[in-house]
Amino acid sequence: MARLHTKRADQRRDATHKLTTQLIHENQVIAAESLQVKNLLQNRSLSKAISDVGWHQLTCQLAYKAEWYGRDFVQIDKGYPSSKRCFHCGYIADTMPLDIRRWDCSACGTRGIDRDINAARNILKAGKAILAGADKLRHHEQTTVGHTGG
Ligand SMILES: [Zn+2]
Repeated sequence: MARLHTKRADQRRDATHKLTTQLIHENQVIAAESLQVKNLLQNRSLSKAISDVGWHQLTCQLAYKAEWYGRDFVQIDKGYPSSKRCFHCGYIADTMPLDIRRWDCSACGTRGIDRDINAARNILKAGKAILAGADKLRHHEQTTVGHTGG
């Protein structure tokens, strides 16, 4: 019984490793919210992997595999209003109860905003902004080193 259980756990781990490797290969940039996001995820295999091994282990794998393969993995603070923010105009709704799957933006008039897609776009945009800032910092450090290191 115990051995059976171990074997199944191993299989789950293998499946998760395959999935995270695939995600890293297929995407140059991966941005994720730093909390459990089962409500935001429509990708079935991803949702399953999260429930199998947990969000923390999944993001850990993504982080080190991104490093291996020269990809960017960035985590967005859980305080970021990815669900409440309209991707089109930046308007932030007061509340966004979990049972609301589609909404209309009262600021820019966009109708039928898909909650999950909108949140995913916001997370990716925020992730890219963070990476752009990190690039600037790297560039600045390089120039600074160049000036003083001669
Ligand atoms: Zn809007």
